[in-house]
Amino acid sequence: NDPSPRRRRVLLKLSGEVFGGGKLGVDPDTVRGIALQIAEAVKNDVEVAVVVGGGNFFRGAELSQSGMDRSRADYMGMLGTVMNSLALQDFLEQAGVDTRVQSAIEMAQVAEVYIPRRAIRHMEKNRVVIFGAGAGLPYFSTDTVAAQRALEIHADEVLMAKSGVDGVYTADPKKDPNAEKLETLSYDDALRRDIRVMDQTAMTMCKDNKLPMLVFGMEGDGNVTRAIKGERLGTRVTA
Ligand code: UDP
Repeated sequence: NDPSPRRRRVLLKLSGEVFGGGKLGVDPDTVRGIALQIAEAVKNDVEVAVVVGGGNFFRGAELSQSGMDRSRADYMGMLGTVMNSLALQDFLEQAGVDTRVQSAIEMAQVAEVYIPRRAIRHMEKNRVVIFGAGAGLPYFSTDTVAAQRALEIHADEVLMAKSGVDGVYTADPKKDPNAEKLETLSYDDALRRDIRVMDQTAMTMCKDNKLPMLVFGMEGDGNVTRAIKGERLGTRVTA
């Protein structure tokens, strides 16, 4: 007996690079800027969940190439995402937004555990939910987690925030002056042409479950706010 129409609900994926401003660790000014943009969008009645990456700290695959056990290195990567989650939480709360961090690895002092129905409840109460620690599983990526969490919380769309590029192009715009930005793209085409806007596991999951995705650039003025509100920018990828 819930007569109110469902609000727009989105899953925003922020890669670790975004948090580090291109460097190792967290760049507070950058994270503050993103938090303010999310705060602005939340005022517009959109429910927001965020999956954060951790590439600004560690990537398991890279550490394992230098001789570490892959699974242990992946756990380090996941812990990096938790640090990013806490940074984002702090700046969101400073911006007046209630938040909860849910971690896929238990760490009761810093985050709730991942409980999907509770995450939905938080969003219904205007809280932004930040999912940290990836899936809690080595050999996974936070892109795949973004697709999975979006499906499990019934998000309308996955928003892939990119830095340095504002959508999907017909060729690499940095190398080919004739590269054109695509307004729309199908998952089949993206997979066939090996367009790496998110990893292939994640893309396959979105395709199989008909979950649309927006690939957009962080850099433009208010782009994160606009994407969350549902404005058309970047490239829309659909099944
Ligand atoms: N990771 C993992 N399982 C997960 C999510 C992440 O093992 O479910 C590890 C993996 O080592 C990965 C690192 O955490 O390299 C950071 O995540 P990711 O590379 O996806 O972050 P991004 O590229 O978005 O910054």
